[in-house]
Amino acid sequence: MSHTPAESTESPDSAAVSFRSEVTVELVKHSAADSDVLWAARVSTAGEQSLEELQKDPERSKGLINYLMRDRHGSPFEHNSMTFFISAPIFVFREFMRHRVGWSYNEESGRYRQLDPVFYVPGESRKLVQQGRPGKYEFVEGTQAQHELTGRVMEDSYRRAYEAYQEMLAAGVAREVARAVLPVGLFSSMYATCNARSLMHFLGLRTQHELAAVPSFPQREIEMVGEQMEAHWAKLMPLTYGAFNANGRIAP
Ligand SMILES: Cc1cc2nc3c(=O)[nH]c(=O)nc-3n(C[C@H](O)[C@H](O)[C@H](O)COP(=O)(O)OP(=O)(O)OC[C@H]3O[C@@H](n4cnc5c(N)ncnc54)[C@H](O)[C@@H]3O)c2cc1C
Repeated sequence: MSHTPAESTESPDSAAVSFRSEVTVELVKHSAADSDVLWAARVSTAGEQSLEELQKDPERSKGLINYLMRDRHGSPFEHNSMTFFISAPIFVFREFMRHRVGWSYNEESGRYRQLDPVFYVPGESRKLVQQGRPGKYEFVEGTQAQHELTGRVMEDSYRRAYEAYQEMLAAGVAREVARAVLPVGLFSSMYATCNARSLMHFLGLRTQHELAAVPSFPQREIEMVGEQMEAHWAKLMPLTYGAFNANGRIAP
């Protein structure tokens, strides 16, 4: 494929406009460990215990976490916290913020600052063509011509939209009014804070995985965000992560 939009900037009349194919997810803050799950679960039978005591028998700990996951005792998975800084197109955030329970969000403002001209263009590996009927379809690669057309049309459209935005700002129109012309392919950024239980619910719905007992068919771009969050979480809570996969990736 000759069209490679990732991280390109060009054109003198829209010099600042740039195009990206990747989303980014940074783990900015966390308090999350498997021992948080064990501590919360065992308080119901043993009262408060020291963490050392809980970590004495790793096999027993693994077994307890697996039992909680399998039998859907969900609340012990809530006593932890992860804050992610996510940079992705607005259409991803629109889907993301449908996840209401166990999530907190703060997104950059288009009212208080001028929005940067960074726009999403699918990369070469993004399957472009949908085949089949609603509810039973698959995505296939697409031809080189389709990839080139998509890149060219999106970039032209983004440039025109951003020029219109700048024209209004230059004429003194308020940012909150002028932003109406900007498309959902514009990159935005947000902090998203969750716990392991709410993250598991998100991952069950927003990733495709061979171990999923109930398959989901998410849009690829939100899945890209989910995959990066999953990689961070897996390192923080390996036993919980293992139990999630072993039990069909269904949130307890
Ligand atoms: C592949 C895919 C396609 C989608 N397509 C569309 C679409 O075409 N149009 C569209 O509008 N949305 C669509 N969605 C969004 C979807 O309907 C959900 O809004 C989104 O996945 C969040 O899921 P949730 O409500 O379970 O999560 P959360 O809001 O985080 O809720 C978590 C859980 O809490 C409980 N809960 C939360 N709120 C309530 C409530 N008010 N009453 C009772 N129980 C509650 C439920 O058990 C819920 O599963 C799609 C989602 C996916 C994954």
